[in-house]
Amino acid sequence: MEQKATYIKEKFTEILGFAPDDTQTDQLIKFYEMTVEKNKVMNLTAITEFEEFVMKHYVDSMSIIKVIDLKDKNYSLIDIGTGAGFPGIPLKIMFPELDITLFDSLQKRLAFLDVVIRELGLKKIVTVHGRAEEFGRKLDYREKYDIVVSRAVAELTPLCELSIPFCKVGGYFIAYKGMKGDIELKSADRAIKVLGGKLAGTYEFTLPATETDLEKDSTEADTNSGRFLIKISKIKSTDNKYPRGGGKPFKTPLYIEKKANQ
Ligand code: SAM
Repeated sequence: MEQKATYIKEKFTEILGFAPDDTQTDQLIKFYEMTVEKNKVMNLTAITEFEEFVMKHYVDSMSIIKVIDLKDKNYSLIDIGTGAGFPGIPLKIMFPELDITLFDSLQKRLAFLDVVIRELGLKKIVTVHGRAEEFGRKLDYREKYDIVVSRAVAELTPLCELSIPFCKVGGYFIAYKGMKGDIELKSADRAIKVLGGKLAGTYEFTLPATETDLEKDSTEADTNSGRFLIKISKIKSTDNKYPRGGGKPFKTPLYIEKKANQ
C-alpha cells in the first residue's frame, strides 16, 4: 500500500505537476484493486499490472489538464463510453467539484461503477445507461454539459457526431486519442464545423514507458504510448438533424457523405 501510494504521488508530480492528497491516493488505489478484482469475472480492462494501470489509465485520464483547467471548477462533465470509468472516475477523484455523468451503453459496467462510487464515497457523480446517438437527441441531455469527454470509443468523425450534441454552446468536447489522432482530426475537419464546433487546440505527448512496457516488444510499447488530445469548442448549437440514428454516424460518417455530395 505504502509503495503504491509513493508510486502514484511520484508519477503524478513528475508528469502532471501535482500530486493527489492522501485521501485521493487511497481512492485511486482502491479503485485499482476493485477493478482488477472485478476484471476476473467481467471484461473491464486489459491492463492489470499496477504501474501500467497508473500510467495508462490514471496519468492518461489526467492529461486533460494540459488543455483545460479543471481545478476547483464545478463544471458539468459527461464521459461518453466511460467503460470501466475512464477518464470519469480519476477526474472525479482528483477534481471533486466536477459534476460528472458516466455514460455507457453497457449496463453491467455501470453497475460496477455504481459500487465504486458508493465504496469510494464519491459525490456529485451518476451513471446513465444508453446509446449516445439516442441520448444526444433527448432534451434532458442535449446541450446540457459544460464539458464532454470521451476516450477509446470511436474514430473521431462519428465520435464528434455522438459527443458534440451533448455539449452546451460555450463548452468544450475533449477527445482522448492515440497517435493517429492528428490524421483523424484532418478527416473530421468538416464534421466538426457542421456539428457546431471549432478546433480550440491539441496536445500531443508520449506516456513514459513502465517496467511492463519495457518487457514487451519495443515496437508494441512504442505504438501504445503516443497520445493526442483534441479540444473542440462548441460555438453554435448543433442542428437538430444530428446525431443521426440507425447507425449512420458509423456507416456514413459525416465527412464522407459531404465529400460524396460535392
Ligand atoms: N472510455 C473507456 C476507456 O478509455 O477505458 C472505455 C473504452 S471502451 C473501448 C468503449 C466503451 O464505449 C464501451 O464501454 C462501450 O460500451 C461504450 N460505447 C460504445 N459505443 C457507445 C455508444 N454509441 N453509446 C454509449 N456508449 C458506447
